[in-house]
Amino acid sequence: MLSFWEKDFFIEYDHIVVGSGIVGLSTAIALKEKEPQSRVLVLERGVFPTGASTKNAGFACFGSLSEIAADLQKLPDEEVFNLVKLRWEGLQLLRNRLGDDQIDYKNFGGYELLRELELVALDELDRINHLLYPLFEKTVYSIANHKIHEFGFPAKAVNTLVFNPFESQIHSGRMMKSLLSLASSKGVEVLTGAQVVAFEEHEQWVEIAISDGPTFKCRQLAFCTNAFSKWFFPKIDIEPGRGVVLVTKPVPGLKLKGTFHYDEGYYYFRNYEDRIIFGGGRNLDLETEKTTNFDINEVILKKLKADLRELILPGQTFEIDHVWSGIMAFGPNKKPILQKQTPRVSAGVRLGGMGVAIGSKIGSELAGLMLQ
Ligand SMILES: Cc1cc2nc3c(=O)[nH]c(=O)nc-3n(C[C@H](O)[C@H](O)[C@H](O)COP(=O)(O)OP(=O)(O)OC[C@H]3O[C@@H](n4cnc5c(N)ncnc54)[C@H](O)[C@@H]3O)c2cc1C
Repeated sequence: MLSFWEKDFFIEYDHIVVGSGIVGLSTAIALKEKEPQSRVLVLERGVFPTGASTKNAGFACFGSLSEIAADLQKLPDEEVFNLVKLRWEGLQLLRNRLGDDQIDYKNFGGYELLRELELVALDELDRINHLLYPLFEKTVYSIANHKIHEFGFPAKAVNTLVFNPFESQIHSGRMMKSLLSLASSKGVEVLTGAQVVAFEEHEQWVEIAISDGPTFKCRQLAFCTNAFSKWFFPKIDIEPGRGVVLVTKPVPGLKLKGTFHYDEGYYYFRNYEDRIIFGGGRNLDLETEKTTNFDINEVILKKLKADLRELILPGQTFEIDHVWSGIMAFGPNKKPILQKQTPRVSAGVRLGGMGVAIGSKIGSELAGLMLQ
């Protein structure tokens, strides 16, 4: 039985956000910015945020040349431009909010490795640079083949290297800790170990049940549960997509510096200090990887190890320090779902593979939607 104090002070909020990933925390922060007097609670099932936001590779990216070329085959130019704009503006919001030092933002640039079969992306180089010029006011993608040798990539495997000076890298752990600190400094309350299991909407409020705990109440509820949203909205158009990531031990004399992609963004690697963080390969086994289970797919891990040996660090000695997996959320297109599900319940979910870039903006837009 709850005490009078608990009932009075721990249960009722103006706004409750489910999920403390980048979207959940950004939403809670934006709610406090828009309505400083409101009481905002975040409910997180993990002991700390345990979705994609703490498990990603820390690329501050907005799309490689071949990814954007592939998007242009499915979407009109204007929509592709707007997607890149959303990612770029989201990154600026994240940086302004938290500060570059806090998130260990490093602008080393990004590169895409094009193999023989992928050279067709170069046909779109001028068109894409022209499309993105109004946003960056500079050429975004240029050929940097002199770096193939400098980075030590085998010339027979890597035909062309495309450079993007605007791409950067961050420390995802620092980003999430900084977001938690900022949320707390603005008066957002975060309860961890609070798995939401059900909600019920009434005319004036919503009731939210957590496993092994009391029932909370709020005026507006938001779900920021990304790949884990089907539990609440069985018909929502979201497919989970697991990603495997590994990190090496420090590699003596590591030459690679920056963020790197290949195979239309399905593979990605970067330096972190003098280590390599490398992930991807989901397209090797797409059906198995449509899961919210955090196991490691051994077929994919084997391929990552082989590519590390043969493509990324050929002839170099390295050891793998750690391997993990995380779950992304995908749909028929790359647009997130940002909508009211019912008058008092909204969702900001399906962030795809570039949620670090768009998460902050989606949070602001979701807060706006809740307060309408
Ligand atoms: C392996 C991997 C690599 C990636 N690399 C990059 C990258 O380099 N750059 C980039 O931009 N993006 C990357 N992404 C994508 C990016 O991390 C995500 O798009 C983004 O973090 C999604 O944020 P989110 O807040 O929507 O969801 P999440 O971070 O998944 O947060 C959802 C939260 O909801 C909580 N939750 C779920 N169900 C409940 C419940 N019932 N009750 C309470 N809490 C609940 C979860 O525990 C979790 O903390 C990567 C993702 C993965 C998995």
